[in-house]
Amino acid sequence: MAALETEAVVLKQFDLGESDRLITLYTKEKGKIKAVARGARKGKKSRSGLVLPFSYHKFTLYQGRSLARINYVDSLAMHKQLREDLDYMAYASTVCEYIERAGLEEEADQALFSLLVVILEKLNDCSKNELLFYFTVFKAKLLLLLGVKPEIENCTICGSKMNLKGRTAFSVEQGGSICKKCLAENDNQLSRSAFSFFELNELRALYKIIFAEISLLKPDQFNLNLLEKLTDLTEKFLIYHLDLQPKSLDFLYTLRNLNS
Ligand SMILES: [Zn+2]
Repeated sequence: MAALETEAVVLKQFDLGESDRLITLYTKEKGKIKAVARGARKGKKSRSGLVLPFSYHKFTLYQGRSLARINYVDSLAMHKQLREDLDYMAYASTVCEYIERAGLEEEADQALFSLLVVILEKLNDCSKNELLFYFTVFKAKLLLLLGVKPEIENCTICGSKMNLKGRTAFSVEQGGSICKKCLAENDNQLSRSAFSFFELNELRALYKIIFAEISLLKPDQFNLNLLEKLTDLTEKFLIYHLDLQPKSLDFLYTLRNLNS
């Protein structure tokens, strides 16, 4: 049996028999992998007991006939807060489900892996009112990594350079901005629900969360109205262009409605 040493994040887990757990990992070296943690349910005495959802470790895995087996765990970050508070858990679960759906088995994607590691760390360490910010940043970066980032600077119908002063029509289906000329010409064909309008500062904010390094982004520069608009837009892009719609989103919305 070949051994694989890799860093990985625990996306989810199921109980298996009396003492084992079936774990879905997103690994740095081989993308998504399912593995068995023997004795994981026996509690803290076992090292595999540390293999909890959203935690980040260095693993040694042995590939069995069907599933890999977890042999050694060296913890890098437990991300305790993500399991102990329902709001944090809702965001972390949704992030992990996006990765589980977007990530390929046995195929490394180090950019996707790094995004996952950084976002879970930010979510774990941030205050409750910053959760939506990092969740929105995650989805914007995910769109960029998966090759469907919103087009801001050029009209998505005629290709001409946009004049972004004033309000800009933005279409999820078209994939971005629509210039005034195309908007006037296509007004009958484009259904009203197919686009929304963005102010220049809102488009700048969108551009920033897509392209700026996460460590340089400051949550307090994005107010709640703006974040709600951007989180809605990024979510619709992920659904329309990539068919990515985690079930955990329902839970997240239920909680957000309760809190608002
Ligand atoms: Zn145009």
